Amino acid sequence: MDKIKMKTPLVEMDGDEMTRVIWQDIKDILINPFVDLKTEYYDLGLVHRNETDDQVTIDSANATKKYGVAVKCATITPNAARMDEYDLKEMWKSPNGTIRAILDGTVFRTPIIVKGITPYIPTWTKPITIARHAYGDVYKNTEAQVKKGSKAELVVTAPDGTQTKQTIYDFADSDGIIQGLHNKDKSIASFARSCFNFALDTKKDLWFATKDTISKKYDHRFKDIFAEIYENEYREKFEAAGITYFYTLIDDAVARVIRSEGGYIWACKNYDGDVMSDMVATAYGSLAMMTSVLVSPDGVYEYEAAHGTVQRHYYKHLKGEETSTNSVATIFAWSGAFRKRGEMDDLPDLIRYADALEKATIRTIEEGVMTGDLAALSTLPDKRKVNTREFLEEIAKRIEL
Ligand code: NAP
Ligand code: MG
Repeated sequence: MDKIKMKTPLVEMDGDEMTRVIWQDIKDILINPFVDLKTEYYDLGLVHRNETDDQVTIDSANATKKYGVAVKCATITPNAARMDEYDLKEMWKSPNGTIRAILDGTVFRTPIIVKGITPYIPTWTKPITIARHAYGDVYKNTEAQVKKGSKAELVVTAPDGTQTKQTIYDFADSDGIIQGLHNKDKSIASFARSCFNFALDTKKDLWFATKDTISKKYDHRFKDIFAEIYENEYREKFEAAGITYFYTLIDDAVARVIRSEGGYIWACKNYDGDVMSDMVATAYGSLAMMTSVLVSPDGVYEYEAAHGTVQRHYYKHLKGEETSTNSVATIFAWSGAFRKRGEMDDLPDLIRYADALEKATIRTIEEGVMTGDLAALSTLPDKRKVNTREFLEEIAKRIEL
């Protein structure tokens, strides 16, 4: 059989620990036998990030801008323990944060649904994709504890030097706390465009919610920017695609989400997205079954798994013990990237391969062959727990091109 040819290379961002092991196995077992793989390789493993003073992360993000599609392995975000473990020159920033800042993107997380793993909300038969606005609000706040007798004011100095003052609170009878938040029209607009584009891309409805009835300036601005961009740039495209943009209050959205069958994109403000993405991921069963894609407002895509480097399994692996690590989300990161590359380069064979890879992965699990994390959750009567490598080999057997 002739291998499937690619045109433009994928930007390949290698990573750390157990996911780095899986990364190589996926290429050996599931990709190289079928595809004449073309990538521009960037090693984002912590050792190489440290060697390059993290320049490799910046280079990989710029390459993504140039080529349009990247696939990323999970990477370690250094903390104090990692400083010693890897003898780091600096506590390098989260690669995902760096890449997101350069691409100005929004992260969309979608669960992979298989028979036998029932969501905690049984009506959720289709995936709910969460889009989190990853800028500002409480994540870039200024806060203070204040003493009784203090008065807190909101002061804004305009470009011409004139000041406006509003009292936040007069702490006449108690100590207290205050917090200053901000966001930028520019960032909100980028977020909105990424969401509208991704909805068109995936042909799914888009929901957005804030608390605009209470926050008449701050949250209302989010609502207005979304509405304006939708009317001016997207309404016609949405109508042609047969999808809708739906805005409601955040508490109403939460109630509707629980009653829904899924199948839409839920755009969330930063804090809502932080909280709701964990709720949705847990409700669908497993973080190891959650894919993630960073989409920039100008249509650049970076695919990855939502989980981390699975450190505990890696230490077992290093000791020569058998592991049963779930590679599904990482496989779907690759298939997502191949599909997008295929669409951009007009390569139907590459798209067909991406579909076949996903189908084979789901079929493997639905035929009862799965890693330990899923075996613990699955309600299938006949299931067989396999190790990390066997799982990939079982998928390879089921790929039908
Ligand atoms: P983690 O790697 O997501 O793993 C946490 C636990 O979840 C694992 O110990 C395992 O549970 C289970 N798990 C996660 N993915 C799994 C998979 N594919 N198959 C089977 N079980 C899976 O999170 P962490 O251990 O907190 O973080 C490890 C490193 O990942 C950290 O250095 C962190 O900085 C990094 N991280 C990177 C990203 C990213 O690059 N996007 C995201 C998050 C974290 P059991 O141990 O019970 O089997
Ligand atoms: Mg969270």
